[in-house]
Amino acid sequence: MDGFAGRGAVITGGASGIGLATATEFARRGASVVLADVDQPELERAVARLRGEGFTAHGVLCDVRHLGEMGHLADEASRLLGRVDVVFSNAGIVVAGPIAQMTHDDWRWVIDVDLWGSIHAVEAFLPRLLEQGGGGHIAFTASFAGLVPNTGLGAYGVAKYGVVGLAETLAREVKANGIGVSVLCPMVVETKLVSNSERIRGTDHGPAPGPEETLPAQDDTLQVGDLARLTADAILANRLYVLPHEAARASIRRRFERIDRTFDEQAAEGWKH
Ligand code: NAD
Repeated sequence: MDGFAGRGAVITGGASGIGLATATEFARRGASVVLADVDQPELERAVARLRGEGFTAHGVLCDVRHLGEMGHLADEASRLLGRVDVVFSNAGIVVAGPIAQMTHDDWRWVIDVDLWGSIHAVEAFLPRLLEQGGGGHIAFTASFAGLVPNTGLGAYGVAKYGVVGLAETLAREVKANGIGVSVLCPMVVETKLVSNSERIRGTDHGPAPGPEETLPAQDDTLQVGDLARLTADAILANRLYVLPHEAARASIRRRFERIDRTFDEQAAEGWKH
């Protein structure tokens, strides 16, 4: 994509945090935006804030766990924006704690929102992007936890590894159609992710995790505005991976070294195939 001016963008989880900051960045660069979220009061506040800054912004209530609601979002976004060029599948929650302590409800909730949410975005929006032609871009928010194992974030990591896999394969498959794909893999970003997650957890997924189960504190916490700029730039450059934290680099390299070393160890023990 060569610019945001005159483009239509849809952002799930757009009422706060990374989603709202990125929607604001898209709007500053000339896009019209549709924010989608489950949190109606926050959604209304976010839309009012963007409109107050003179941007074209709309809000659509959408629970990304449900394909029907994502389909409705795609219909509404096309109606409100004329056409959708950018889809940012960003809505997410976090469930923290060791795998041994994950309840079935924990697993279901995190996979439903963090993995199925992105699959639903692809199911609802990709056919429309392909049909309308003219390229476009699909971006996903995964996490550093989608690239390397993070102790205490196992269930979340399963969902986020899935999102990374979805983005990587999709990027190859839609390249010929001129559709770009990006996947954000940040470490800690300054948002209310943990408190929002506890607050919005529905009764159909059981009680929220205990207060001791929070994300580990990190020194190089990133501001959402900086991540939003990096994301918008990555979309224009059609860069697949968005890796805002240099501190992630060594862990990612070590993971691939551990995989690579396994071939040597097996060969040293006589494995041939
Ligand atoms: P946030 O809580 O500010 O934003 C998440 C938004 O998603 C909220 O507005 C929330 O209401 C919405 N949401 C939650 N469940 C939803 C659902 N079922 N349907 C629609 N909307 C829903 O937190 P954030 O940190 O901005 O999170 C955005 C994304 O970034 C998430 O996917 C998260 O996993 C990811 N992430 C965050 C961090 C971090 O440190 N904050 C790090 C890596 C990845």
